[in-house]
Amino acid sequence: AQEQLVSAGKMELLGQLAGGIAHDMNNALTVVLGEAGLLYDQAPEEAEAITDAVEHASSLTRQLLAMGRREVVQVRPIALASTLERACAMLRRTLPKDITVELSVAEPAAVRADPNQIQQLTLNLGTNAAHAMTEGGVLRVRVDRAGERAVLVFEDTGSGMDELTQARIFEPFFTTKAVGMGTGLGLPSVRGIVESLGGQIECHSALGEGTRFVIELPGIELAEVEGSGASMDDDAALR
Ligand code: ADP
Repeated sequence: AQEQLVSAGKMELLGQLAGGIAHDMNNALTVVLGEAGLLYDQAPEEAEAITDAVEHASSLTRQLLAMGRREVVQVRPIALASTLERACAMLRRTLPKDITVELSVAEPAAVRADPNQIQQLTLNLGTNAAHAMTEGGVLRVRVDRAGERAVLVFEDTGSGMDELTQARIFEPFFTTKAVGMGTGLGLPSVRGIVESLGGQIECHSALGEGTRFVIELPGIELAEVEGSGASMDDDAALR
């Protein structure tokens, strides 16, 4: 049953179910938060502990709501290099200064996807990589092709993972982070995005040796991307 839950289609269903529950849960949490507020005078420490716990719970429900929401995804031909360039620029603004983000393009590749999906996936993988590089390090992002497939690699110089951890990273709610620091929804959502685009994701990692995520997506011709010479001509011909 666990394995079924993890598959991408089930993730979407889980997201919808969870989204419905999260909405009601959030309302209930708001009430608890309000009542805890009334306790502050008599028992400030307890009131604070309740408030912290409720805030953690409500950050979980917010993420669940986001998963359940039917996001309007606009899939279209995009070049991975320019999309990743923007996503990496965002990472550099977000991540601590001692984390270097390097982007290289071994071979340009194009896919059918919503740029926001690639952005989201980069943000999740990049944030995880940064969490694993507490002393600083390098996140290498590479765009490549393998035959008909577009390849995206995220490689960090962080702490890596043992095999037991690796076996569970795509399970919803699996996290090794402290309470309030992790939700365990980052990688399931990355995998959900990848599989919704017809692709696959693999993780290679060893404790103390860093981690590499390899994503393969169905590739398309670069010429299909809007703004590349050929597709402009095609567009003009259609009009
Ligand atoms: P969260 O980040 O909220 O814990 P994720 O689903 O994104 O949830 O990740 C699940 C777990 O996978 C993390 O708690 C961590 O143990 C492990 N993990 C993910 N990415 C990396 C990485 N780049 N290096 C080491 N461990 C990682």
